[in-house]
Amino acid sequence: MSGHLALGSHHVAFGFEIEKKGKTPPWVKQVHGVDWIRANTQMASGEPMAADAVVTDRVGAEIYVYTADCIPVLLASHQSGTRPAMVAAIHSGWRGTMKGIVPNVLKVWPAPLEETRVIIGPALGNCHFEVRQDFIDEFTAVHPDIDSFLEKRDGKTFFRHFDFVCDRQLAEIDESQIDRTSAICTYCSTPELPSFRRNKSTDPQIRAWIRIEHSH
Ligand SMILES: [Zn+2]
Repeated sequence: MSGHLALGSHHVAFGFEIEKKGKTPPWVKQVHGVDWIRANTQMASGEPMAADAVVTDRVGAEIYVYTADCIPVLLASHQSGTRPAMVAAIHSGWRGTMKGIVPNVLKVWPAPLEETRVIIGPALGNCHFEVRQDFIDEFTAVHPDIDSFLEKRDGKTFFRHFDFVCDRQLAEIDESQIDRTSAICTYCSTPELPSFRRNKSTDPQIRAWIRIEHSH
């Protein structure tokens, strides 16, 4: 799955690709936290820094995160005046969502949110994000009001993770700016996308990438 956004004088390319571990070197060591790095220089050699989001305004730099049930969130905003175009790739698993990685990146986002576009990638959907009481306890300790994001079916409870991120954490961004067409369930997707819950493995994984293209 891949696409293009026309944003003012720039185009932004993005995609979600199935990839074997080790094919492309990671920008960051993903730790389900809330830290982000700015990727304005060449990818560092050696150990990448612990972080769960990469942001850049560097034209031509492809930034990305890896997921396999966690939500990949891509952000893009266009150039305006002295403000450069900017993109972000965010890894938001339920722990990162609970701690607030997406709101944390929005705090440093330079563009007005009404000019910010969001692309949500494949992740564990409502249909398969079954949760147990320990999850509910841990999550409600931070977000006491998640009841409306829990769905009960056949005596089981499911977490509406996509909706929590889009309706709660991206609430200031208009729905029309949020592209959810790639936000399908990894577990039951056909053809099969990498799902940790299904495969008990994060190899292969989804590489969620975004890049500001050179303007023409
Ligand atoms: Zn599903």
